[in-house]
Amino acid sequence: MSTLWVGTSWKMTKNLAEGRAWAGGLREHLEGSAPTGVQPFVIPSFTATTTVRGILGEGSPVLLGVQNAHWEDAGAWTGEVSVPQAQDAGAQIVEIGHSERREHFGETVATTRLKVAAALRHGLTPLLCIGESAAIKAAGGSTEHILEQAAGALEGLGTEELSRVVIAYEPIWAIGESGRPATVEELIEPFASLGRAYSDRVTGILYGGSVNLDNAADLLGIEHVTGLFVGRTAWRLEGYLELLRIAEAHAAR
Ligand code: PEP
Repeated sequence: MSTLWVGTSWKMTKNLAEGRAWAGGLREHLEGSAPTGVQPFVIPSFTATTTVRGILGEGSPVLLGVQNAHWEDAGAWTGEVSVPQAQDAGAQIVEIGHSERREHFGETVATTRLKVAAALRHGLTPLLCIGESAAIKAAGGSTEHILEQAAGALEGLGTEELSRVVIAYEPIWAIGESGRPATVEELIEPFASLGRAYSDRVTGILYGGSVNLDNAADLLGIEHVTGLFVGRTAWRLEGYLELLRIAEAHAAR
């Protein structure tokens, strides 16, 4: 079975003191090694990247990411951060195409493609988020939509490049305070389709959207799910540690 990637984006939460407490607690808990069969990762705000890197330490079993990065390496792009800058700050993962960025900041399939290419060019792992709205789901278009988002962002990649990509399927209707947890039944078809297209070709296919301590084990049991990308439940360190335990138990089965 593949390594289960279990991680969190803090989105626009946590000040530096809170970030230090979370990352320091995680480091203490892990004592230098990841749970067996699990790849932990954390994606703080840009402002906390170097702080979290410093606390986790070089060679940490926890991978560190940023929530976005520009496709150009440098230049007149006020307010943006490039992949080399993210790497310089200690990032190993670039989250790309989260639905909040698509909805509020004009992220498109074209920009996700450029960003995936930029991350790969510099040896960082692109974490490509895809997901359909409630309206698309109601119209029966979920699978077609997410396959189009993935194919568009990954177009033109060679086998080796594709093998370094992680996909996170996060249905928009299941994300955040206004989301409702997806049922296992609702996720079988999207993961079957993603699995047919990508399971042997990418590093992992994660599920995200209202993951909690009650549904995590069932979600990990869905065929082709190889990890969890989590918001609210993992913002409390105890919640994240419990998710790591659930994943470790699942990996040991
Ligand atoms: C998300 O926004 O990507 C997410 C998974 O959030 P939550 O777990 O809080 O639904």
